[in-house]
Amino acid sequence: MRLSQQARKRTPVHELSLCNGLLRQVEQVADAHHAVEVTGIVLAVGPLSGAEPSLLSRAFHLARIGTIAENAELEIEHAPAIVRCDTCGVETEAAANALSCGRCGTWKVTLKAGNELMLKRVDLVPAEQPIVAAAS
Ligand SMILES: [Zn+2]
Repeated sequence: MRLSQQARKRTPVHELSLCNGLLRQVEQVADAHHAVEVTGIVLAVGPLSGAEPSLLSRAFHLARIGTIAENAELEIEHAPAIVRCDTCGVETEAAANALSCGRCGTWKVTLKAGNELMLKRVDLVPAEQPIVAAAS
C-alpha cells in the first residue's frame, strides 16, 4: 500500500527512459516491416524489472507522442519471476520478494526470468503501397 502510494507520487523518469528505449525498438520493428503505423504494443514486465506498470503506461502516453506508435495502445503483461534451483535443478516460479526454490525451498537459486522488460508483440499497419524513396 505504502509502496504504491510512493510510486504514484514519483516522477516516472525511469519509466520514461524505458519507454523511449522501447519505442526505438518498436520503430525498428515497424521499419523492418515497412509499416506506416503501430496500433498496439504488448509488453511483458517482470516483477524485478524495477518498472512500475502503472507508471510505465503513464510514461508511455508521453513517450509515444511524435513516434510511429503515437496512437498505439500499450498492453502490459505481468511476467513471472522464474528461478532455477542450484540444488535440485528445477525451474519454478517464485515470488519477487522471496526468491527460493518452489520444490525444495532452498535460497540457492539463479534468477532465470523476472527482471526483464520485453517487447512481446507489436501490431503494425502495413503500407498499402510500398513507399519508394526517391533516388536522385
Ligand atoms: Zn530446489
